[in-house]
Amino acid sequence: MKVLVLNTGSSSIKYELFRMDDWQSLTEGIVERIGERSSERADRGEGVERGDVEPVADHHQGMRRIGQMLTESQALTNAGELFAIGHRVVHGGDEFQKPTMIDATVIEAIRRQIPLAPLHNPANVIGIEAASAAYPGVPQVAVFDTAFHQTMPPHAYRYAVPEFVYREHHVRRYGFHGTSHLYVAKEAAKHLKRSLDSLNLITLHLGNGASVTAIENGQSIDTSMGMTPLEGLIMGTRCGDLDPAVVFYLATALRVTNDELESMLNRESGLKGICGDNDMRLVLQRMADGDSQARLAVEMFAYRVRKYIGAYYALLGSVDAVVFTAGIGENSPRVRAACCEGLAPLGIAIDPQRNGDVCGGNREIREIQSEQVACRVLVIPTDEELEIARQTVEVVTTSHIV
Ligand code: AMP
Repeated sequence: MKVLVLNTGSSSIKYELFRMDDWQSLTEGIVERIGERSSERADRGEGVERGDVEPVADHHQGMRRIGQMLTESQALTNAGELFAIGHRVVHGGDEFQKPTMIDATVIEAIRRQIPLAPLHNPANVIGIEAASAAYPGVPQVAVFDTAFHQTMPPHAYRYAVPEFVYREHHVRRYGFHGTSHLYVAKEAAKHLKRSLDSLNLITLHLGNGASVTAIENGQSIDTSMGMTPLEGLIMGTRCGDLDPAVVFYLATALRVTNDELESMLNRESGLKGICGDNDMRLVLQRMADGDSQARLAVEMFAYRVRKYIGAYYALLGSVDAVVFTAGIGENSPRVRAACCEGLAPLGIAIDPQRNGDVCGGNREIREIQSEQVACRVLVIPTDEELEIARQTVEVVTTSHIV
């Protein structure tokens, strides 16, 4: 039997199909520019095929196109082979603590979170509806980016704002990237031959979006993203932590609307705001060429990460491992070194040689800590789709439906 994982955006659907016996990925691809002149890509195991195709009018048609690609590639010969479909859902608010079997009530609850994630949740609901129509009767599971962080205690998730703002408007910290933080935490436990619930970890998801999580005895007790993914670390185009008064000041000084400010802080800030480029590879290249703005961007990025490591170390008391993952965390020795600089007094230090050897292209877990310290520093490639597939199967297997 097989599991299909779907990540639906406003104009795209990414998919990956897994075989349940051994969790091998059978095929993956994307239908994008839905509603425009579309393009699609599919990796059928023999390399990536790309193509501009006839316009895909909407997500329903996009889903049917994925169905065709799955059958044409022979990865899925008939719908009867499909054990379940797992959906990435960005915001579960405080209604969802764990992955959940989808029914009409659950779809309504996901809709209720739309004000908290106006860019993501509407597309996620459309994806669920399109997949239900294309594969009627196949169990569907929602896996929430926020769910892993629902174990945060109130003193970590509340903002110091009037009580009614929290009670009536659900303004609190939720955290994101939960599937990735949980996946690398489980992989770290396997690697260290320890049970996850005995481990204290600091997991660093450093990609275009970036966040850090403090994990105590296997549970998230704090994370850097907040009510939205804008809080916390400096990211490709997001500012991360900012004095909220800056927003009022800019609204007046620049005479811009809320939407324009939101767009500036989400799309024009972060690395891009500091030096003009949001792609860390380009920023590092420019820094190597002597560009001072690029150097400042990298220094600010790493400085913010170090502040969070120090803060989370203080919360956890002891740390078994610091884990680097995602595009930057997995591939950049330079950034990893900068993020751990000066942390030896906390028992966190990197071995330059081991660190330099880990620069991508390798899916193995690697240890890069220096011999002199007790805390392990691990580089673990993340795999959110695989984690969604596994959680989907677990939910369906333990539910009453099967
Ligand atoms: P992600 O969002 O996980 O796909 O990560 C994207 C980020 O990873 C971008 O900023 C890329 O520039 C960065 N990245 C990917 N490969 C490398 C690399 N070899 N060195 C530095 N950054 C990289």
